Order: sequence, then structure tokens, then C-alpha cells
Amino acid sequence: MLKGDRLIVTDRDKAEAFVQEYARVSKQVRIPKLDRDTKRQLREEHRSCRGCGDRREGACGPFSLQDLVRELSGLQLKKTPGPDGISNEMLRHLGPVARKVLLTIINMSWRTAEVPRQWRQATVVPIPKAGKDKRLTASYRPIALTSHVGKLAERLIKRRLTFLAESRGLVPPEQVGFRAGRSVEDSIGRLVQQVKTDGIGPSPDVQTHQKAPPPRSTSWSRMTSRAPMTWWTIASYV
Ligand SMILES: [Zn+2]
Repeated sequence: MLKGDRLIVTDRDKAEAFVQEYARVSKQVRIPKLDRDTKRQLREEHRSCRGCGDRREGACGPFSLQDLVRELSGLQLKKTPGPDGISNEMLRHLGPVARKVLLTIINMSWRTAEVPRQWRQATVVPIPKAGKDKRLTASYRPIALTSHVGKLAERLIKRRLTFLAESRGLVPPEQVGFRAGRSVEDSIGRLVQQVKTDGIGPSPDVQTHQKAPPPRSTSWSRMTSRAPMTWWTIASYV
């Protein structure tokens, strides 16, 4: 493996080279002052809750054993565990007493807004990108293996937040990303409909941006067969 012009051979040096590369990349997207301000703001807001008046009920209330059991039964198996070595299989097979303890830990984190250190630790595994020079650290895509217990807590919280956001209409209807039951097809469908209804015709400018036929995806062929006149117009947007 190469670090600049230098050849590195030991595992320790290689790991160090990856650490430096990832630290460099993550520094580019971090805004320390904003992070600090947001944390301070969150801490102040946490002192008293406007939603429930600190009664810790409704959306702020603890998770029930039923909530936990539902998430446990939906866990995907055969996934590599995080640094704590706890697999989803272990969580799935917990007995009633252990489930209660787990629920207490998750609810404690939810109530105090403290995330255990073990849930924030990750084992980073660099995976080589196809066709790239394997001697360079930049040719690897890192994946982070994190605690399945932490992920379980996150899933419980996400389900509650999603319900709140959807039921209170906080997410605009145009947003399809990160939403269940919606996909990019919805956006394409809307665009096709708009083009049909408004009768937007081809323009030389659009034609110059015409791209190669779209990827082999059934959604695309279904969409384009429904609207053969407009698919290339859409292709210029993607
Ligand atoms: Zn509250």
C-alpha cells in the first residue's frame, strides 16, 4: 500500500493511513461551530419539553414492550455485528427478563437524551472499489459496523418520529426520499403528467442534453412505454 511515495507494509501503518484519509474527508463536511451551537440549543430545549410540559407522555413517553417486540421480530438476520459483538440473532432470542432490561436501557437513553458510548463506536471496514488502484487508500469505500443494540434504539425512535412527522404533515408531499411506500417513480410520474397536461414540447436545448437510453430498470421501461413521447425529456433531467 502507498502513502504518498512511501510504501507501507504493516497492518498498523495501513490502518493509520486509512484513519488519516477518513479523518481528512470527514473534516471537510464538519462545521464545529454549528455542531456546538446545535448541541447547546438541544440541551436547552431538553431542559423543558414544550410538547408534553415535561410529563413525558404521548410522543415523549417511554417505549412499550410491545414496541420493542415488534422491532425485534423485524430484525434482519445474518448481519455483521458492531464492536460490541452482539448480533441480531442474540437480540431476537432474548428471554422475557432480558427483553425488559433491554427496554429499560433504551428508555433510559430516550429519557435522558444520553447515547451510550458503545452505541456510538463503529468498526470501519474499507471495501475496495471495483477497478481502482488497491494501493491507494482513496480507492476504498468505508463501511461502518455499529452496535445492533444502538440501531434497535434508533429504529424505535425513528418509527415514532416518522409517525409524528407524517401525522402532523411536516413532510412536504413532493419529498419521496427516505419515506416508506414512495420512490423516484412518483416524481417521474408527476413530471410525465405535468408534461402531458401542460403540453411542454421538445426544445433544441433539451435535445442537446439527451442522454443514452436509461438504465435497465422495469420502472423506467414501464414509465417510458406509458409515455413514449416524453421519456427523453425526462432523461435530460437525470
Ligand atoms: Zn415532551
